[in-house]
Amino acid sequence: MNTKIISIEEGNASKEALKEAGEIIKNGGLVAFPTETVYGLGGNALDETASEKIYRAKGRPSDNPLIVHICRIEDIFPIVEEVPETAKKLADAFWPGPLTMILKKSEKVPDTTTGGLDTVAVRMPGHKTALAFIAAAGGYVAAPSANISGKPSPTLAKYVAEDMGGRIEMIIDGGEIAIGIESTIVDLTEEIPVILRPGYITREMLEGVLGKVDVDRAILEAGSKQAPKAPGMKYKHYAPQGDLTIISGSQEKVVAEINKKCEEMKKRGEKAGVIGTDSTAARYRADSVKSAGNRGEEAAIARALYRILREFDDEGVTVIYSEAFEDEKGSGGIGQAIMNRLLKAAGYHIEQV
Ligand code: AMP
Ligand code: MG
Repeated sequence: MNTKIISIEEGNASKEALKEAGEIIKNGGLVAFPTETVYGLGGNALDETASEKIYRAKGRPSDNPLIVHICRIEDIFPIVEEVPETAKKLADAFWPGPLTMILKKSEKVPDTTTGGLDTVAVRMPGHKTALAFIAAAGGYVAAPSANISGKPSPTLAKYVAEDMGGRIEMIIDGGEIAIGIESTIVDLTEEIPVILRPGYITREMLEGVLGKVDVDRAILEAGSKQAPKAPGMKYKHYAPQGDLTIISGSQEKVVAEINKKCEEMKKRGEKAGVIGTDSTAARYRADSVKSAGNRGEEAAIARALYRILREFDDEGVTVIYSEAFEDEKGSGGIGQAIMNRLLKAAGYHIEQV
């Protein structure tokens, strides 16, 4: 298959380009598109064969449900059994935006889209091109991240092309993504809302609107025996090709330990990469050193993380050491989402010094 790539600057889409992309979806094909979180791989959420194509293109297990993207708040009604007060409040506060809600699904949503669950994940993304594309596609676009299953989510169209080129009909290149990590997922089917995946919308922000909100502990704790409630969270994810280890502790000890490990690895013929921060990057001695940004600016670190992991792949780095960005049980800010992704990318391999 020949994958057509078109560039659309946010807010600058021509009607024809969007119409073409929308027609592909209406005809059962797949289009990758930018959102504010990461690039999505879109198909018609109401067409069961389209979801199957998404699973195939990604190499994703089909028990891992897809998020249905909508472009108008009212479009939620036909795809869910009921819209609880909590969902209305959250939609008012955070949509369009990086928040996914889990609700009881209606008959309209095929089982293939929800991986056989009787609930559906819904989000209205905060990105003008995404919203216009969803409208052109008929209003319901199922979209996981546009990467091969297990690899870091793409924040640049070139990484979408690397993974999806030849597998899908079209890629809409919208430049570098603003947020860089996936949406927060909150389950509203329980009495107390539960965060199933931490993200840019933090627990504090949700509690500001809803009162008490729980976090699915299974997603944060390494080796937890409890199965995570979002099926996708059980898989090793976001992983670079190099073997990633997180080194946690005081700054001095972390820098010394990482440098020691890099030296050992060099002797063994490995190519070592380090993820540091603006204040430490210059102190590392490795084949490739990258700063995730200023430690105080979590949003910038979130944006840089997947790009850095992909760049290490481009460079053929075989072992990676990263500073930790937040305690695992953290404060609940975006740091928690960053550490959740980093832990998964590392297969929960973290060392304390
Ligand atoms: P991605 O599409 O790559 O952002 O991943 C979607 C995430 O949402 C995965 O972790 C899924 O397991 C999760 N998810 C989607 N639908 C549901 C649902 N109905 N219940 C629980 N988790 C869901
Ligand atoms: Mg994903």
